[in-house]
Amino acid sequence: DSTAARRDQYYAASLTRFTPFRDPIVFKKGQGQYLWDTEGRKYTDLLGMNVCISVGHSHPRVVAAAMEQAQELTHCTTMFYHPTPAHLAEELAATMPKGHDWVVHLTNSGSEAIDLAMTMARTYTGNLDLLALRTAYHGPTAAAQSITGIAGWRHPGMPGNVAFVPEPNQYRGIFGEGTAPYLDEITRTIQTATSGKLAGIFVESVQGYGGIIAMPPGYMSGAADRVRAAGGLYIADEVQSGFGRTGDHFWGFEADGVVPDIVVMAKGLGNGFPIGAVVARKDVAAPMAEKFMFHTYGANPTSAAAARAVLAVMRDEGLQENARAVGAKLLERLQDLKDKHSAIGDVRGKGLMLALEFVTDRDSKTPDKEMTAEVFEACRAEGIILSKSGPFQQCLRMVPPLCLSQEDVDHVTTSLDGALSAAAN
Ligand code: PMP
Repeated sequence: DSTAARRDQYYAASLTRFTPFRDPIVFKKGQGQYLWDTEGRKYTDLLGMNVCISVGHSHPRVVAAAMEQAQELTHCTTMFYHPTPAHLAEELAATMPKGHDWVVHLTNSGSEAIDLAMTMARTYTGNLDLLALRTAYHGPTAAAQSITGIAGWRHPGMPGNVAFVPEPNQYRGIFGEGTAPYLDEITRTIQTATSGKLAGIFVESVQGYGGIIAMPPGYMSGAADRVRAAGGLYIADEVQSGFGRTGDHFWGFEADGVVPDIVVMAKGLGNGFPIGAVVARKDVAAPMAEKFMFHTYGANPTSAAAARAVLAVMRDEGLQENARAVGAKLLERLQDLKDKHSAIGDVRGKGLMLALEFVTDRDSKTPDKEMTAEVFEACRAEGIILSKSGPFQQCLRMVPPLCLSQEDVDHVTTSLDGALSAAAN
């Protein structure tokens, strides 16, 4: 197969090979939580093709809904009316906390939605300054990069008016465990590093590329209070942590009872079809009407049909409940592995958004990038696709399709155990 050679020759260097394997895999087919390569080898997809696959690869109901729509009318711009995206908007608004009027702006991707949320917050508040977290990832557009804290994902010349606050990482955060010092640092940052007037703060309810950092209790609501006191909005980035992935709630922010002003979503919404959305309070979106704005393929009926089917399958197959139950089992088994293998410094996450963090020794907590890479490769040889994350590439992230089974948990944890035992020798 010449695919790898062709990719290496013709893809621009700007396109990161995100989790390169020593031996390239060329995928051909997917079903549920499994993938097959061109040689017929089967893999368990713990990456969920980058957290996009919520209800399972090529889910028959999602594929059928998209095909039916594409055959009837593939595309219709938002200048006109079409029932499918209008229904989707209604369904998305219904997932939001009660007591507010929610409105929806459909985009093609997560970063476009982030970009739009930034503009919406600046337009509504009349303020420019934004806060984001140091180990945040919000996407590849220039605006989304400007609020992406991890330097390795930020290129030169990105727009400004952004100040970063320390992530409340309970394992290696600069203030250790707890929430209060991290919240005080938000106030200090507003006073010392901004104009004092904010447009908003962007928070991933559970950070993805930051290494699966769930916001500790009280952080999201406390951050919202402090930012609102400076005139800003609270913007939840649910691109990875939404759609029932955390098990207990449909949206990650619900864990803290905070009601965001704007919610950004993508990935799991389309189960692989390109779609993103900003869901905002109606009054927050209203001032944007003073200028022109639309995304050519935003509200595309084909992607919207897929997204509607995803919502229905989530409900009919009880996938949020499955994420909670199977995620709890996987977490428990990862904790057993931590008891056995000293290379694991931390095990964390919620639902089916979990990570292992590797360290050279537990006292110094020195990140062990090499061990991470070794276990990653060993698991691949056993047919398990993981992903490396964290600012030091020291974490293995597990974000599978939400239909992961108990048998998959056995397979994955047995393979991890074998890989860790082999690496220790
Ligand atoms: N926010 C988060 C938390 C993400 O993980 C991503 C994508 N990895 C984005 C935003 C950007 O989404 P997209 O790649 O669809 O532009």
